Amino acid sequence: NTFAEIDLGEALNLNIQRCKYVKPTPVQRNAIPILAAGRDLMACAQTGSGKTAAFCFPIISGIMKEQHGERPRGVRGVYPLAVILSPTRELACQIHDEARKFSYQTGVKVVVAYGGTPVNQQIRELERGVDILVATPGRLNDLLERGRVSLQMVKYLALDEADRMLDMGFEPQIRKIVQQMDMPPPGVRQTMLFSATFPREIQRLASDFLSNYIFLAV
Ligand code: AMP
Repeated sequence: NTFAEIDLGEALNLNIQRCKYVKPTPVQRNAIPILAAGRDLMACAQTGSGKTAAFCFPIISGIMKEQHGERPRGVRGVYPLAVILSPTRELACQIHDEARKFSYQTGVKVVVAYGGTPVNQQIRELERGVDILVATPGRLNDLLERGRVSLQMVKYLALDEADRMLDMGFEPQIRKIVQQMDMPPPGVRQTMLFSATFPREIQRLASDFLSNYIFLAV
């Protein structure tokens, strides 16, 4: 019933203490062990449930623990290991702020990219290196079309507030993004889908993007 009981790594546990998180929330208590075990997850969770940490902790912990060979760099784009998709700029920035606190002194670099602002500064930021890319679907597609980011090395994909993203018409954008992750070698991506509701369209997304997933409702 504490975070220390889950083996997330020392640096991350320190940051959790710094954030004054003492007790995991229900979604964290249930989702983190499933994700830490490498399983795909479909979670029904509301805003305020602590879902951001539920997907950020296993991603940060996983990136810290694994050896990720040299990533190609340069003109063809940068290579994040994790992508977190969010419906709005506000939510993307919120996730970025939290993920940065969680990854303090872990060596894990978090970058945010959203639309409605000039793309060039975000490109420069990405070129300085990125492990976790928090993005809105439109801007990520823009970066992909410009050849400024590659999803070839993505090991973790989190879709936050998936129902809101579909309500906003992002489904084609999301599908385009995920397609770029389905390049060989296959079967290495871990996908986590968070949604407040679970209508047919979300069920379809889950069956298309997740493999052998665990369903969690809190
Ligand atoms: P979220 O649902 O991810 O937007 O989180 C809602 C709020 O709860 C945020 O302000 C978090 O910083 C906070 N929070 C998340 N998990 C915990 C926890 N285990 N203990 C205390 N606060 C938390």
